Amino acid sequence: MTGVFSLLPGGRHGLLTPPPGSGAGSSSNEDSSRYLAVGGYAPVPAPARLLERIGTVGLRGRGGAGFPAAVKLRAVRDAPGTPVVVANGEEGEPGSVKDRWLLRHRPHLVLDGLRLAAAMTGAERGWVYLSDASAEQAVQRALTERPPDLRVDVVRTPHSYVAGEETAVVRRIDGGPALPTAKPPRPFERGVGGAPTLVANVETLARIAVLHSRPEAAAAVAGTHLVTLSGTGGQGALVEAPAGTRLEILADSCGHGNAGAVLLGGLFGGLHGAGWRDLVLGQDRLAAAGGALGCGALYFLRPADCPVSVATEAAAYLTAQSARQCGVCVSGTGALAGALSALAQGGAAPDTPDKLLRWSRQLPGRGACGLLDAAARIVAGLLTHFPDRVDDHRDSGCPGCHDATTGGAAGDGRRFLVAVP
Ligand code: SF4
Repeated sequence: MTGVFSLLPGGRHGLLTPPPGSGAGSSSNEDSSRYLAVGGYAPVPAPARLLERIGTVGLRGRGGAGFPAAVKLRAVRDAPGTPVVVANGEEGEPGSVKDRWLLRHRPHLVLDGLRLAAAMTGAERGWVYLSDASAEQAVQRALTERPPDLRVDVVRTPHSYVAGEETAVVRRIDGGPALPTAKPPRPFERGVGGAPTLVANVETLARIAVLHSRPEAAAAVAGTHLVTLSGTGGQGALVEAPAGTRLEILADSCGHGNAGAVLLGGLFGGLHGAGWRDLVLGQDRLAAAGGALGCGALYFLRPADCPVSVATEAAAYLTAQSARQCGVCVSGTGALAGALSALAQGGAAPDTPDKLLRWSRQLPGRGACGLLDAAARIVAGLLTHFPDRVDDHRDSGCPGCHDATTGGAAGDGRRFLVAVP
């Protein structure tokens, strides 16, 4: 990880670069008195008006699914019962650091967003859900410094790929394991303790707080993303950039301008090859290109990297992270990872690419969470964007695949891990 910086135009302040005087930054925690001095924790006399503004500017959730924030808030507000709210800071994607960074360095901003979410939904109780010890310390310090209007507890979970999925969050807060459950019911219908529950990503909450304190910047705030950039060789950065930024500019900003391909959304948005430079940051734009922004993590591959190798490592990691609750996930991720591994080693049957294609079309949507979809999308991207490289592996393995298939590297996801700056 090489830095934390902003690509916002005109020196605009954002989540990573707050106004001078806030006391926040990449090497310090936010201070409550200084956060108050720059407009934080402002009264919210008309929560309905704030909710309307969130809807008007089209703020979307930043946890991965990109669901409209106002729709989710209204669903919780209008469900029968007294709602509760959860700040979800458990980022399962190994290539993402934005949520931990926010909790460590801007805890008041996140807690401000949480109390605004409570005001908009009518919630009387909240939780901050996380796995990172440093983030927990920062949040506890912030809660002590300035106790919130509603009761807020911190719940720590063991880290895993699926621990941040919204039904896993509910299950863990209720005292169970951090594993997804079947839907429906969704948390807005029946969540923590049976109450209608808003599970909101911490970046979403941070953006709600800024929307409230700086209404004049609402559209720009909603149209901006935190992205974690990394790639082969270890160079990376946590960057704030407006929707519409070409991925080529993001890659250049952290030394990956010569990349040959990109893996989008952590492991969730698939591999993209030739033409990746023209892809544009934004949930809808990347979806239209057959990918997904997910949590905003981008992993750049060098031209020399073998995409079969990267896909094999990703599928092995996802297989290891499967909660093993859904039969189709256990067999599906295992089959995808096994076929990729055979391909990587040059020992695949002639019909392996055809099988992979069929599975990548049949498996999405069949698990209780998005893990199986992620594995299928990686395979689909590999077959779509790198058919020649796949063909090259039919008869013999390649050197680039060696580390992915031997020596225990497969399954630990080490390649994709990023340290929090
Ligand atoms: S799809 Fe896989 S990871 Fe998700 S809940 Fe089912 S078994 Fe667990």
